[in-house]
Amino acid sequence: MSMTTAQVFELASNQQLWAGHLIDTTAPVSETTLPNYSPIDNTCIGSIANGSQQDVNTAVAAARDAFEHGEWRRMSPAERKAIMQRWCQLMHEHMDELAALDCVDAGKPITECLNTDLPATIETFEWYAETADKVFGKVAPTGADALGLVVQEPIGVVGAVLPWNFPAQMYAWKVAPALITGNSVIVKPAELTSLSAYRLTQLAYEAGVPKAALQLVCGLGEEVGAALGQHMDVDMVSFTGSTEVGRLFLQYSAQSNLKEVVLECGGKSPQIVFADAIINEQTIEHILSAAFWNMSENCSCGSRLLVHSSQKEALLTLLKEGLQSWKVGHPYDPEVAIGPMIEKAHFEKVISHLNTAKTEGALLIAGGHIHDELGSGWYIEPTVFDNVSPDMTLFKEEVFGPLLAVTSFETEEEAIQLANQSDYGLAASFYTQNVHRAFRVASAIKAGTVSINGFSEGDITTPFGGYKQSGFGGRDNGLEALSQYTQTKTIWLVN
Ligand code: NAD
Repeated sequence: MSMTTAQVFELASNQQLWAGHLIDTTAPVSETTLPNYSPIDNTCIGSIANGSQQDVNTAVAAARDAFEHGEWRRMSPAERKAIMQRWCQLMHEHMDELAALDCVDAGKPITECLNTDLPATIETFEWYAETADKVFGKVAPTGADALGLVVQEPIGVVGAVLPWNFPAQMYAWKVAPALITGNSVIVKPAELTSLSAYRLTQLAYEAGVPKAALQLVCGLGEEVGAALGQHMDVDMVSFTGSTEVGRLFLQYSAQSNLKEVVLECGGKSPQIVFADAIINEQTIEHILSAAFWNMSENCSCGSRLLVHSSQKEALLTLLKEGLQSWKVGHPYDPEVAIGPMIEKAHFEKVISHLNTAKTEGALLIAGGHIHDELGSGWYIEPTVFDNVSPDMTLFKEEVFGPLLAVTSFETEEEAIQLANQSDYGLAASFYTQNVHRAFRVASAIKAGTVSINGFSEGDITTPFGGYKQSGFGGRDNGLEALSQYTQTKTIWLVN
């Protein structure tokens, strides 16, 4: 039975929320647990299972057996689709419950969880369910003496290692395409946010997904994540998280079985406002959303605002006005747009960036206030720094918190040069009325997603991922994501 948001919040206040392993075995799994603290007020809301390398070994053995001998891979694509569609129906029925789990676990505003994260999660599953019986292989242009088929086969045992910033949505981005293509999937949710992954996986079983085809191992990255990355019988790992940990997965692969690795990592995305841009209410809303949506704990966060000097003064005045409606507060409050940082260590990292920006000479023009009076105290107001030069830390490093760096420019060439002056290349947005400039700049920017006259990550139909150190090996979303989880085989029939 589905729970209401109020029931989930009640369980949280009684420390009764739980996320455990879902491993297809009759053998014992480790019973140690980790306390789960909510970033909202730093109180314990329950616990999660603390997995071990042995748990990963058990899950991988079951996944391998399912892949070689089980029903999921052998089912017709249309049958897999029907099961995924039943699962989507259950997600709709449990929408409030799943939204509340992400809210209490990650400190995300409940309105965001209900209106954005969960609808996007379900849409992802619905979209990939439809691909099951609509994506075809190819016939090679051979002569009459041969028939050459190019087919896509599932890759095998897939590890999905998830971040904490969009718990349900990142689960969907990985699991939906990996599962629909017939793989056996093992999910390792972020240890800070495992609750919705646990519930979503339980609902999958209710819909008819065989347990060995989709398993969950909870616990720490250094233990469970590393065990998946280093395992000799995992064929592929799809990872979203920091560039630092992404690099480790490449090492794990090199040191083990050369498993495929796809990484979606960090970013320091530019937003450019050209001299000819229209600045109206919608522009301001887009710029602020790019910069501060999800407490800026967003890999595609538009954290560098590059503004033509002629527009700067007026734009900054409007941005400051617009920020008045971004309410900082308790994530259960439906009016709230900004909740807490995910945890104390991360809060302290963001504060240290704030202080460094001041000491390096950036000019604080909005925000900067820490709301000690709220719950955990890890609430930081949306903050804007002007006069940020390219040599400053705030221009270069991903903060993953609500600090927007403003830099002015004079020419289009300078704007492009500043935009590309980053180790990252995940996303970019820019504003202009000139269609020729729009094409020129869009092709000159080194980023996986470039949006014009608005902030967007695209939608489920379009691939998402990064240039440079923002990503490696493939893309999430769109039909492109399917190639992460399949391998290409040529079948050559001689006449
Ligand atoms: P993280 O790298 O700390 O953790 C991500 C996952 O890796 C977690 O499940 C964690 O347990 C695991 N992990 C941690 N240490 C590990 C280790 N030594 N070996 C194996 N696994 C390990 O990232 P995070 O803090 O959860 O997320 C924030 C980062 O994710 C940011 O840098 C952000 O930009 C990035 N991100 C990128 C995208 C994208 O699509 N490009 C989307 C969301 C977040």
